[in-house]
Amino acid sequence: MTTHAFPHAPMDDCPFMPVFGPPAIMFDRGRGTELWDSEGKRYLDFLAGIAVVSLGHANPIVAESIADQAEQLLHVSNFFANPVATEAAVKINTLLRDATGHDGQIFFTNSGAESNECAIKLARKHGGRGRHTVVSTLGSFHGRTLATLAATGQPTKHEPFQPMPEGFRHVAWGDIDAIRAAVDGSVAAVLIEPIQGEGGVNPATTEYFRAVREICDETGALMMVDEIQTGFARTGRWFGFEHSGVAPDVVTLAKAMGNGMPVGACWARSDVAAVFEPGDHGSTYSGTAIACSAVNAVIDEMQRLDAPQLAVRAGERLVAALTALPGVVDVRGSGLMLGVQLVEALDAKQAYADLLDAGLIVNAVNPTTIRLIPPLTVTDAEIDEAVAMIGVALAAQLTAGQG
Ligand code: PLP
Repeated sequence: MTTHAFPHAPMDDCPFMPVFGPPAIMFDRGRGTELWDSEGKRYLDFLAGIAVVSLGHANPIVAESIADQAEQLLHVSNFFANPVATEAAVKINTLLRDATGHDGQIFFTNSGAESNECAIKLARKHGGRGRHTVVSTLGSFHGRTLATLAATGQPTKHEPFQPMPEGFRHVAWGDIDAIRAAVDGSVAAVLIEPIQGEGGVNPATTEYFRAVREICDETGALMMVDEIQTGFARTGRWFGFEHSGVAPDVVTLAKAMGNGMPVGACWARSDVAAVFEPGDHGSTYSGTAIACSAVNAVIDEMQRLDAPQLAVRAGERLVAALTALPGVVDVRGSGLMLGVQLVEALDAKQAYADLLDAGLIVNAVNPTTIRLIPPLTVTDAEIDEAVAMIGVALAAQLTAGQG
C-alpha cells in the first residue's frame, strides 16, 4: 500500500476528496486519552474523535469484543437475524425505556446522518400526506446527507447545494415563541439537540425543552431528539434529554455508541415505530454483527463504569480548573461536553493551533469558543495536564495581544 506524507501541498497529491482541507497530523496509535503521531509525538485527545471514543482509544474490552466477533460472524444481511444485533437492540431499548418510560423499537444505521434520515422518513410517514415539515433550530447540526443538511440550521452550509429538499423550517434557538409559531398543522416533527454541539456548545434550558414537548403534544408533531453527540453518558446522564425530564418520541444515536465502530440507531416509541412497514426503510449494514459487537461491549462497559457519573465527576474538575484561568469568561455545557468561552481579545482558532503544537487536541466551535469533549475515562492527572496547557496557551496569547 502506498503511504502518503501529510500535510498535503498541493491537495492534488491527496487520495481523499478535498472536503476536509489538508489533515494536520497523521495519527497511528492511541490508548485511552492518549494519541501518538507517526513521528512518535504524544498528544492528549480532548476531542475524542468528535465525541466518539468515549471509552478511550483502543479500549481493550471493545477491541476484544470486535476481534471475537470477527472470528465468529461479520454479516448476514437483513433477511436473517443475528444474536448480536438482537442483544444490542434490547440493550438500547432498555436504556431508552428507563429514560422515557416508553417501550420502543430501533433501526440500526451506520452514522449519525443516517439515524436522522430514518427519523425524518419516520416523521413523514407518521404525519401523512400534507404533514411532512420538520422544524429544527438555527445553529443546529444534523448531518451532511441532503435531508439532514436541510434540517441543519446553518444556511451557509446549504448554499453550494441549492435547491435543498423541501419540507424543513428553522427557528431561533431557545426562543419558545418562535417555535410555537412555527409548529402548525403542516409540521410532522421537531428535531432538536439537547446541547447544540457543532453550533457552539449551546445547552437548551429545561424550560425550552419542556415547552417543545408541550407544543408537540398540543399539535401532534413528534418530538425527535438528536442525541448523536450528547447520548451515551456524555452530558452526565445516559441521554441529554434526561436533564429536562421530558420524554421524546424519537431519539437518534451514533458516535459513542460504537466507540469508533461506525454505527448508529434511530429509536422510536412503539406506536410511532409501528407506522413503518416492510420495504419503507433499510440499509445493507443495518444491525450488522460486527458493529453490534462493539455496541454491546460499549453499553456493558459504560454500565460497569457508571459512565454518567464519570462524566459528572470529571466535568466538575475540568470546569472548576478552567473557570479559574485568565482569559476564560465562562464554561458552558454539561458533564464532559464543555464549551470554553474566551474573552473577545482571544482567538479560539489560534488557541486550537497553539494547543495542538503543545500536544493537546481540542477544537474551535466558533471564533471565541473552544470545545472540550474528552473520553469519559479521562484521568484527573490528564485533566490537570490539559488545563495547564490551556492556561499557558491563553496566557501567551494575552501577553502577545498586549505587546
Ligand atoms: N447530529 C449531531 C448532533 C452531530 O453532532 C453529528 C455529527 O457531528 C451528526 C448528527 C452527524 O453524524 P455523522 O457525522 O455520523 O453523520
